[in-house]
Formats: sequence, C-alpha cells, structure tokens
Amino acid sequence: MFLPGTMQINAKGHLEIGGCDTTLLVQEFGTPLYVMDEELIRHNCRIYRDIFARIYPHSQVAYAGKAFLTTAMCRLLAEEGLALDVVSGGEIYTALSAGFPADKMIYHGNNKTPAEIQLALNSGVGCFVVDSISELELLEELAAAAGKKANIYFRIKPGIEAHTHHYIQTGQIDSKFGLGLADGQALTAVERALKMPHIELKGLHCHIGSQIFDLKPFQLAARVMMDLINEIKEKTGFLIEELDLGGGLGIRYLNSDLPASVTDYLEKITAAVKERAAAHNLPLPKLLVEPGRSIVGEAGTTLYTVGAIKEVPGVRSYVAVDGGMMDNLRTALYEAKYEAILANRANAPKEQVVSIAGKACDSGDMLIWYIELPRLTRGDLLAVLSTGAYHYSMSNNYNRFTRPAVVFVQNGQADLVVRRESYADLIRNDIIPERMR
Ligand SMILES: *Cc1c(COP(=O)(O)O)cnc(C)c1O
Repeated sequence: MFLPGTMQINAKGHLEIGGCDTTLLVQEFGTPLYVMDEELIRHNCRIYRDIFARIYPHSQVAYAGKAFLTTAMCRLLAEEGLALDVVSGGEIYTALSAGFPADKMIYHGNNKTPAEIQLALNSGVGCFVVDSISELELLEELAAAAGKKANIYFRIKPGIEAHTHHYIQTGQIDSKFGLGLADGQALTAVERALKMPHIELKGLHCHIGSQIFDLKPFQLAARVMMDLINEIKEKTGFLIEELDLGGGLGIRYLNSDLPASVTDYLEKITAAVKERAAAHNLPLPKLLVEPGRSIVGEAGTTLYTVGAIKEVPGVRSYVAVDGGMMDNLRTALYEAKYEAILANRANAPKEQVVSIAGKACDSGDMLIWYIELPRLTRGDLLAVLSTGAYHYSMSNNYNRFTRPAVVFVQNGQADLVVRRESYADLIRNDIIPERMR
C-alpha cells in the first residue's frame, strides 16, 4: 500500500499522519474528518516552485484554488510564494480575507458576472483570464467605468483534450471554455483587445484537462500555443510575453497508478516551449503552470467511522460509513476509485472484499465498489486516501448532513482550519414567511 507524505503506521498499529495518531484526531474532532498533511502540501509547493525556477527562471507557479481553498490554505500559499488561480467572487473574497495579495491572483471562469468583475477590479486582482469576446467587451466597459486598466490573458482551446489516459486532437473542440483556434476566434479577440484602451493584453492561457498521466498532450499544447504566439506576431505585430499552460498533472489514487513526476512534466513542457521559440526566432515568454490536484490531492485523507454492515448473500457485503457523496462527490461524478486503510488496525490482515457505502439517500452514493480489507465491525475507523483535491471544495449539504471539519496536521500537531458545520449552520439562511408563522 502506498502511504503518501508523512503517513505511516505507528507502534500501536494505528495510522498516523503528520505525526498525529488518527484515532486521537477522531476523538478530538469527530468523523467524517478531512485531514490535510501540511508538510506534504508545502513539499509539493516547493517542488513545483524550485524545480520550475531552476529549469526555466522566468516562471511562476499558480495554485488552482478550486482544488481546495480555505483561508489557512491561502496563508500557506502566500508563505510558499505561489500565485493563486481563483474562479469566483467567493474565492477572491476568501483569499482577500486571508490577506493573500490580490496582484498574485489570476481570475478564471467562463461567465464572470459584472459584480464579480467589479470586485476583482476594485481589489486589484493581477490578471483576468478572458474566456470569450463577450467577456472582453464587458471587462473593457467595467474597467473604463472604474478608471482602471485590466491585465488579461486569453483562454485558448488548443484543440487538444486530455482525459486521464487518453487525449484527442481535433480542429474544433466542443468545449464551453476558451476561444477557438481553427475558427479564427483567438486572433479576432487579440485584434479587438489591442484596440481597447482599458485592456492590457499580457498573455495566452490554455488548460487541457485533469488527472493526466501522459505528458505528450501537454507538450503538444505548449507547441500549439507557441505557434499561435508566432502567428499573432506575424499578423498583428504584437508580441505576447506570457504563456500560462494550465494544470492537470495526475496523482496517485490507486496503488497501480503511476503518475509522471513534476520534474519530468516541467522539463517536457519547457523543452517544447524552447524548441518552438527557437524555430520561430521568438524570445522565451514568461511561463506559468497552474497545478491544483498535484499540490493537495495526495495530502488529503478522509476519516470515517464504520456503521451498519450488511451482507447480501452471494452478491456483496456493504459496509456503510458516516459520510459519502456529501464529502466525496468524485465516485458519483467520475466513477473515481480509491484505496482505503483500516486506520485503527492498520496491520490487520485483509480477509474480505467489501463495498464501502455512504449514508446519503441515493443508491449512487458509494465510495468504493470493491476493496479488500480486514474484517470490519461497527466503530472501526476507515481512512480513504488521496482525498485532498476536489473533495472539501465539492462538499455539500445533501440530506442536510453537515460538512466535515478540516484539520492541518504537522509535527504531531493538529490545527482546525475549517470547523465542522453545526445544525444551526444548516438553517442559518432559512426563512419561514410571516404568513406561515
Ligand atoms: C482545474 C484547473 C486547473 C487545475 O487543474 P488540476 O488538474 O487540479 O491540476 C488549472 N487551471 C485551470 C484553468 C483549471 O480550470
């Protein structure tokens, strides 16, 4: 079994993360509980930052906030010197509340509202990633009204779409994100932007998918983007100086997963950029990457308490835990698969194949369909691995279950960074109309 980061099994046979015994974490904070290995998050930030700076000095790492964002996470990112991708007014507000510098925020999204754009302009967000010509026009209008000039990247569809183990190359991909290449939209947008007095065109951006193991589509995308920079220079005379190649590097969910290393990934994309720059006789652009999953994914573990166990003779054995699709939507959304460890008897021999069910009122609420585990009983503690990215950030109140707490663990210390929701939180915004009282 792979044990990410500081995870280990202690002398009592208990799972330990960040030097904290998970059975004690559960006594203090309850279940379900998101446990984040702070040392591993920081390690991942530094790997990206330091390796990128070494092989391509004019570079910047922007963490994709949508993977996992809280005020404490924003503090950590500021300490580690990363920039931050935000995609909503709520993420901007969260980062500002934590004192994260606005000029290091990169604002994404395919339908930013006027109110969100105004918030971003007024707080001094560093860069807008403009997704459409309609958004470009709205931004010019709002920037003019605010008396500001907005730095922008254009989001481009490079015609390469990658999904985990496969990628496709098409002339015109069907995606709600970005401006097309083959249809000339990208070039039209650039020409329009260059004429706008409150828009400062800084760069181009692309993001080809997520949980990608094969590095080839990343290289292809880098080449296509460099070729576009060249085409823009030839057709308009304008030199694009920054190139943001998005996120998407895969992580380990299963023992059998073999993701590429960050070093290999950065070497491959920078080589592609340098090769095309040389071919077109272009200066090297400032380069950005935007990892989300590969910073926080393996650093997160969800702890659950085992409850009802139901044998369906000749079919399967259902083991229900006290969470489910409310704290982990990925199995239901993407048929995601996970490894799990019996945290309170981590060395016990595996004896049975079971299915781990959530407790929501939906048959699709299954966390793991097949896993070999020791014999389980009510009250056992189950740890599901690699739940740091797109778990807390996608958590919800289906069935009016309360969202779990989040703790950062490091050096034997556990700090609460998100309080467990209370029942009072659930009805905080509910209103009974006067006529029903
Ligand atoms: C989701 C997203 C990312 C991060 O993707 P990961 O797979 O988590 O690394 C980066 N950039 C953009 C624009 C995204 O939408």
